[in-house]
Formats: sequence, structure tokens, C-alpha cells
Amino acid sequence: MPRGAGSVLREFNKKVKKVAILGGGPAGAIAAERLAQSGLHTVLIDEKLAWEKPCGGGITYKAYSQYPFLLDNDTPKRMVSETYLSAPNAGRVKMALTRPMAIYSRFDLNHMLLDRAEKAGAQLEKVRVSEILRQGCGWALRTRHGVIDADFCVVATGARNPLREVGTAWTSSDTMYALGYYVPSNQYHIDIQFLSRLEGYVWVFPRCGHLSVGICGKGESAQSLRARLEHYMREHEISWKGAQFYAHMLPALEPRSWKGNRLSGDGWMAVGDAGGLVDPITGEGLYYAMRSADLASQILLDDAHAPHVKPAAYRSVIEHDFAKDLYLGSLIARRLFTGNFLLGSVPARMVQFVRRSPRFRELMQDIFAGTQTYEDLSGRLLRNLNGTLQEVLMSFFFRRILPEPSKS
Ligand SMILES: Cc1cc2nc3c(=O)[nH]c(=O)nc-3n(C[C@H](O)[C@H](O)[C@H](O)COP(=O)(O)OP(=O)(O)OC[C@H]3O[C@@H](n4cnc5c(N)ncnc54)[C@H](O)[C@@H]3O)c2cc1C
Repeated sequence: MPRGAGSVLREFNKKVKKVAILGGGPAGAIAAERLAQSGLHTVLIDEKLAWEKPCGGGITYKAYSQYPFLLDNDTPKRMVSETYLSAPNAGRVKMALTRPMAIYSRFDLNHMLLDRAEKAGAQLEKVRVSEILRQGCGWALRTRHGVIDADFCVVATGARNPLREVGTAWTSSDTMYALGYYVPSNQYHIDIQFLSRLEGYVWVFPRCGHLSVGICGKGESAQSLRARLEHYMREHEISWKGAQFYAHMLPALEPRSWKGNRLSGDGWMAVGDAGGLVDPITGEGLYYAMRSADLASQILLDDAHAPHVKPAAYRSVIEHDFAKDLYLGSLIARRLFTGNFLLGSVPARMVQFVRRSPRFRELMQDIFAGTQTYEDLSGRLLRNLNGTLQEVLMSFFFRRILPEPSKS
């Protein structure tokens, strides 16, 4: 760095005096907390503030081990350490979650995160942003309460981002529908059901006082997904009478869309769903919303990056931190849900392997914990394939020879 450049950079950064966070879901709330904490004038604008955003509400071990405040709080949540996986022609198998999943209602989670942002000094505004306009080096944000100006925008408006000029510019093939019911009932485990020819799955997530029962699927209409879900609920005697219905979009970027993903630009960065940052296989978005907001805030606050290079620095850090891995996930998503392996469907084989192979079960446990990368997935499968198949065969023959212990 040339002599004196440091002070020039600090001068540059002094120009970013006020940051507007558009959207107050997990991504917006974390960005607001981080920026306000550092003394930056931060205003978070959300049309609803805390609300029951359609979601399973499941937080993986990867998320809460990196952000321990997700566990260390008084907000109601369920810690779930058991799951059942089912697939057509493979039945149902029970699997312990060695690292439990935390399940929140989204109202409670959003409320807790917004509360943290406000305590850190962020100003919260409950109003819709109808338009954003570039004005010189800053922004004018139009709302029905008047215009809010800002030097920089963090775009955290979610998957239905109405601001066309900023955030991911996706096509319909880059999203999937996700819908379901909040059913007033109780259970202690998660259910995951794969369905025939569906790039997606049904889930039953137990929350405090109710279940989130839902389905996500790519390339299928909302109507058809709803019919599949209701069929599942009927079969499993889960009544949706009086249960609240929910539906939303879930980003699931195609491989080509990861390449040119519009994640940042002059004076703005998109975080969370507004940047398409969701695992295209599992649908995990909460971790990536918080992680991208955390990284965006670090770049914004870092004096080593002049304002005009911050958007590119953000894209690069996201790519290296997790987006490359999500891109690898998008390459295998379709085959994983609808492909075949050893003359059966991949989901059926997964259920059978979990039942019979401790090695494969460990791998699935890591997927549920969020710690298995796609980069290492095929390598781990290949490394373990021999052992897994041996375990499957051994288990098969032992079960034929020795009777199963009675379940009572
Ligand atoms: C049915 C379903 C189930 C899911 N289950 C899980 C799960 O179990 N685990 C998991 O990790 N992920 C799950 N996801 C994904 C997860 O919900 C999202 O990835 C996550 O909510 C993204 O957070 P965000 O802050 O980016 O966006 P959001 O949570 O969508 O927040 C966006 C905010 O922006 C506000 N907003 C939008 N436009 C404007 C505007 N113009 N002006 C003002 N405010 C605005 C909205 O009111 C909203 O509060 C699920 C998604 C769906 C649809």
C-alpha cells in the first residue's frame, strides 16, 4: 500500500455515515446488529418487523455453533434429536441426530434477532420501501412515511424481493415453492418424507405448541405440491382442519445462475434470500442469511476495502465462504432426489443405507448437522462405498439369520 493510502481509505470510509438495511428477517437483523454495534448510524426498515414468516424454523448445529446466541437465549425453541426418514419402496427409518436441531417459530426467532439489533443501537422502522433511487453517491428510499436517505444499502428483502434493481435477478427455474400448515399438535421427532419424482420433500418439524408440516419442490406447481402434502397428511392422520396454511418461495439457484448471481453493486450488497443464498438441496437458508449478513457487515466495516471495492470484495468472500459449495450442491440436486442407484431410486437407497450402514448413517447425521460439504460429499461416498456396501450386505444377511429384537 502506498504511503498515506491508509488515511485516504479511512477518509473514503468516513463517507459511509448511514446504512439502510432493507428487510428485517434474520439477514437484515444480523446486519443491523453488527453495523450498529460498531457505531455506524444504522436504520432497519421492514414492513412487518417480527412476523411468522413461512418456514420450518430449523436451525442446524452449524448455525448455532457459529452463532451461540441462537441457543443462549430465553426465546422458546425445541431441541430435537431424533428424525425419521421415509421414501417410497424403502419404508421408514429412525435416525438419532448426534447434534440436535433447534426449531423456532419464526415470529419468536425474528423478534429475538430484531431485539438484539435494537439493543445494539439500530433504529427500526416499520414501513414498506416502495422504491429505491440512486442519488449521487447515496440512496433515496421511498416509503409512505416519506423518503429515507442513506449512503449504503444492505438488501435483505427475502425471496420475494420487490426491488428489481438490486439483489438476485432470478428466473422461475431458480426458485421452488414451499408451503404447508401450522398444525396445533405435539411430537418429539422430525419426519422427512421423500416422494416419487419430486425434487424436494415433505417435512414435519415439531415446534413449541405446534408442528410445521410442509413440502418444497422444484419444477412443480403450488397446487400439485399442496395436493401431495394433503395426501401425505391424510395418510399420516395429521388433520389440517383449522390449521393455518402458509406458502412462500424458496431460492434454489440453477448451476448457471450461481455464476452470474447479482449479489452486490454500486452502493449495495444483497444478503440472505435476496441474494439467492439457500442450500439448493436441503433448503437451509437461515444459516446463510445470517452468515452472509455477518460477512457483508465485516466488509463494510473493514477499512482495508475502499467503498468502491467493497461490493466486489463481498462477492469474493461469499464465494469462498460457502457459495461455491452451494453451487456444487445445485449440480447434484436433481439426481439426488429423482435419480437411480443400484436399480432403485436414490432416496430409497438412502433410507435403506441409513438402516443398514453405520458409516452412511454418520454421513446423513452430518448432513442434518449442516457440517457435510458438497465438495467433500462424493469423495466421502466413494471412500466409504466399499465399507457401506459391506455393512449393508452384512446387516441384510444377519437380519435374515437372526430374528429382529421385539419392539415392545
Ligand atoms: C416454507 C419454508 C420453509 C423453510 N424452512 C427452513 C428451515 O427449516 N431452516 C432453514 O434454515 N431455512 C428454511 N427456509 C428458508 C428460510 O426461511 C429463509 O432462507 C430465511 O427466512 C431468509 O432470511 P432473510 O432474512 O434473507 O429473508 P426473510 O426472512 O424473508 O426476510 C425478509 C424481510 O424483508 C421484508 N421486506 C420485503 N420487502 C420489503 C419492502 N419492500 N419493504 C420493507 N420490508 C420488506 C419482509 O417483511 C421480511 O421480514 C424455509 C423457507 C420456506 C419458504
